[in-house]
Amino acid sequence: MPEAGTAQQFEKKEFQTEVKRLLDIVINSLYTDREIFLRELISNSADALEKLRYQSVVNKEIAGKDLPLEISIQPDDKEHTITITDTGIGMTRDELVENLGTIAHSGSKTFIQQLNESEQKDLSLIGQFGVGFYSAFMVAKKIRLLTRSYLPNETGCEWVSEGLGSYDMRGVGDLPRGTKIILELKEDAYEFAGEARIKEIIREYSSFVPFPIKVNGEQVNTVQAIWTRNKNEVTEEEYNEFYKFVATAHDEPLYRLHFTADAPLAINALLFVPQNNFERFGFGRMEPGTNLYSRKILIQPHSESILPEWLRFVKGIVDSEDIPLNISRETAQDSALIARLRRVITGRFLKFLDKEAQDDPEKYAEFWSRFSMFIKEGATTDFTHRQDLTKLLRFESSAAEPGQLISLADYVDRMKEGQKDIYFTNGPTRESIEAGPYIEAFRAAGFEVIYNYEPIDDFIFSNLGEYEEKKFVSADRAGLELPDLEEKAGEEPLDSEKTGALTTWFKEALGDRVSEVKASKRLVESPAIILNLNPMITSSMERVMQVANQDISHMGGKALEINTRHKLIKKLDTLREKDPEFARTVAEQIFDHALIAAGLVVNPLDMVERVNQILEKAL
Ligand code: ADP
Repeated sequence: MPEAGTAQQFEKKEFQTEVKRLLDIVINSLYTDREIFLRELISNSADALEKLRYQSVVNKEIAGKDLPLEISIQPDDKEHTITITDTGIGMTRDELVENLGTIAHSGSKTFIQQLNESEQKDLSLIGQFGVGFYSAFMVAKKIRLLTRSYLPNETGCEWVSEGLGSYDMRGVGDLPRGTKIILELKEDAYEFAGEARIKEIIREYSSFVPFPIKVNGEQVNTVQAIWTRNKNEVTEEEYNEFYKFVATAHDEPLYRLHFTADAPLAINALLFVPQNNFERFGFGRMEPGTNLYSRKILIQPHSESILPEWLRFVKGIVDSEDIPLNISRETAQDSALIARLRRVITGRFLKFLDKEAQDDPEKYAEFWSRFSMFIKEGATTDFTHRQDLTKLLRFESSAAEPGQLISLADYVDRMKEGQKDIYFTNGPTRESIEAGPYIEAFRAAGFEVIYNYEPIDDFIFSNLGEYEEKKFVSADRAGLELPDLEEKAGEEPLDSEKTGALTTWFKEALGDRVSEVKASKRLVESPAIILNLNPMITSSMERVMQVANQDISHMGGKALEINTRHKLIKKLDTLREKDPEFARTVAEQIFDHALIAAGLVVNPLDMVERVNQILEKAL
């Protein structure tokens, strides 16, 4: 350990490969919004100050206890440097190596890859991927960083790098607590040494940093916890600026909810839904976006406990003076108080979304198109809020125009007289559902059918069981009681004797592959259809299980229903007398077609061979 006032020799260290790749891109590309580097450095300083403020509440032993909590910035347009100093928690030598030599964040790999591939390099999202510091190399040819941890027995450390594969480090004596970063600007970035330019950038990106930011001694931002203010006193602009600050965003939020409660719990919450959902684009699982405060002191950034996991896309803050300051991550997880807060805030947020959906369905449809995965995740996993979540679900349906969404309430409102259940079907697209055999009977009866495009939708219905006492019934369920289609169908069916013999023969031909073969009452245009005997299982669930190599076909079995009015079936009945062998081949092919319509896997090689045999006979 160096003596006070002395410095050691520099030691050279390599950056981790990921960091090298990132720096290579940062240094060698042209950027439009280079000024965001300042937001990133200020946000790191603010985080370090938040952590210090927290430590000084829970911890007596802190270096430099009397230092004011603030960020100072000194642009120097003669030397072409800019220096950013904070009195935050600083870093120990080990932390320095860990934090500024490696990348820990899980999404950063994808981020770097996308950055590498994109022509228009945009670094404005860098902060969300835990690599914000490195953006400083957009403007700096060299960075010097001096830091000293808040831990009383630590000394200082110096870190120097030109971003070219390695950095130098050494121990330094008497540094004040906190971190000082000196950027030697690139020639084309001299503008960032200008005081006016720096102030302008701070006002644009960092006005809500909750610590004073001083430029050459003069405070530039207005420090305020806007969530504690009265709603009527906060302007749209302030809200949007604050959103940009908490979400490190550069656009405006899609939704905003600001609410205050006094009893039974004291809550000030300001929550936002962003414009975009990056999880959808394969950036990996998002970190929770809500920070937990108590009396304006940040006690948990990205809190995992204040909102349920499926609300991780929500950005914002929750402040409650009922929460003890020294609550740890672990205690927060099973604290009864936090659980109550979570229930209240989640309930409030879901009511808010429901109201938005009523008031402005178009905007809600936009929300739904980007964030439905989270609502669905909630609907399948969160029993407490299931009721409220169910109201938020939206679907396409046979009675709505393509692209138009309906709620379950809409469906129930226009159910036909005599219709007892809510019908749904699952397929990859609207077109494939409408071309298949499953909705024929419903179409003929004038019953609306909900179109599910994702297997999770079927799981949700299966979990819910019913909505307003109407059961969810999959259109591929066997034994549905549907109105007789007698008068809709033109052709005469086979008589009952022939039908009996044909179905018995069909069952024999297919063996164990089906549990039963019956004459169908629900088919109009298709020759045959596969149905599920177990009401808890749908073909789309089975599809998911097939992909996961799980065979669930034994869990209830399948019925094949045949359309005895259909020409193909009638001809098959004649064929089976004349050429039983060939009739069997045709029966298997009809069965495979029904499986395909159900989206289930068939063996393509067997099928090709069979089709060849059939073609040969036909020619
Ligand atoms: P992020 O801030 O998103 O985690 P960065 O690359 O910007 O990613 O910083 C990496 C880490 O370095 C931070 O998480 C923090 O631990 C540390 N760090 C950066 N700047 C400071 C600072 N001014 N004071 C203390 N620690 C800092």
